[in-house]
Amino acid sequence: MSTDLQTTMTQEMQQLDQAHLWHPLTQHQPYQMGFAPLIITGGSRCTVKDMNGKEYLDVAAGLWCVNVGYGRDEIAYAALEQMQTLAYYPLTQSHPKAIHLGAKLAEYLPNNPHVYFSNSGSEANETAFKMVRQYWRQKGFASKYKIISRHRGYHGSTMGALSATGQSERTRDYEPLVPGFSQAAAPYCFRCSFHMEYPTCQMQCAEDFERRIQIEGAENVAAIIVEPITAGGGVLVPPVDYLRRVREIADKYHLLLIVDEVVTGFGRTGAMFAHTDYGVRADVVTMAKGLASGYMPIGATAVSDEIFEAFLGEPESGTHLRHVNTFSGHPVACAVALKNLEIIEREDLVSHSRRMGEYLISQLQLRLAAHRMVGNIRGRGLLVGVEIIDAIDGSPVQDATMKSIAANLVNRGILAGKTTDIEAGHNNVLIFAPPLIITESEIDCLCDAVKSALSQI
Ligand code: PLP
Repeated sequence: MSTDLQTTMTQEMQQLDQAHLWHPLTQHQPYQMGFAPLIITGGSRCTVKDMNGKEYLDVAAGLWCVNVGYGRDEIAYAALEQMQTLAYYPLTQSHPKAIHLGAKLAEYLPNNPHVYFSNSGSEANETAFKMVRQYWRQKGFASKYKIISRHRGYHGSTMGALSATGQSERTRDYEPLVPGFSQAAAPYCFRCSFHMEYPTCQMQCAEDFERRIQIEGAENVAAIIVEPITAGGGVLVPPVDYLRRVREIADKYHLLLIVDEVVTGFGRTGAMFAHTDYGVRADVVTMAKGLASGYMPIGATAVSDEIFEAFLGEPESGTHLRHVNTFSGHPVACAVALKNLEIIEREDLVSHSRRMGEYLISQLQLRLAAHRMVGNIRGRGLLVGVEIIDAIDGSPVQDATMKSIAANLVNRGILAGKTTDIEAGHNNVLIFAPPLIITESEIDCLCDAVKSALSQI
């Protein structure tokens, strides 16, 4: 195809896009002045391609979800086969792919979990909140309904999940939020809310849960929800004993612990699940993104036996979970997730993620540690953040600087993530969460590009 024809087709698509789409987290006005979103038409392994055939290394794995990389034929065949066999059936009854997927997830988690399927991370968390509230009612503690989350944590876009989200720029225009949600401090060592340092701080951020519980009244609190590593909030990696301390506090006050593994699950942090890697038992685990590597939308909420049993009763007792999603446990999504997990296991992508994560951090440190705008490099597995600061006073750089670094990377053929709309003046972390199959040479390219992009600021 001639270049002119290609350009015309791209412009036509961009015009149609502007005329009809509303993009997430996007100001559309610049589009009217000639800026346009990338229109991605294909993907293979860690690379995606736009309409003009330009290739990009996608170190954001879409939205941190394409764990097994793009272009896996065997996943496409699994979807096709399932569509031909049974395109849809609701989980008000059952079907084999959901059964196998539930059993597979139970292999990865202790507590013999029961799994409720949904379509996204937000829905997985909404489901968790309803489950824990009903659980306490059925245990005779109807006053226990509050949920404590954390500053900078993200749990989704729907109203309950948003109310648990501790990011003021995400929540402020959508108030009033759902009552009963409040936040404790984030485990943000680089900018500690208590102006202390680990270990002398004795993890005041974890202790803050205890303060929060006392303010809310333990008799009113149903659960704590945390991401094992705050992902979109800036890749906040807590001290290794932090999550264990949170668990202890939850136990002390008879609260359930919901662990949001939507980003961190399925190898992202170099373990199948980050909370088990930290040696912690969760009552409820929510998951989505890497479960099907984004090949189909699917989320899941896994609860311990103990919680599940509180819902058992005579049919007319009304103690069952009164919650339904039409597409819960969609057979095609389950078939795709099963194939995806088979690939993660067969290729041992969990260990690969751990090794490549270590390599990524070491190479970033090698190239960037001396750069005066690099405040902190942190991560676990292939979830890595680089905090960009003002070279003179160390304050977070402005959004405009972050946008120009990201744009510079795009020009160099790198699609990276960054914190967006968290808190005014504190959106200054570049995020790398590539497909788990990334190679050392691709990591070298990424690190060289980041170094060059920063040198142009
Ligand atoms: N929980 C966490 C930790 C997330 O990062 C996200 C999305 O990025 C969600 C929940 C919500 O997932 P979804 O966008 O699939 O609704």
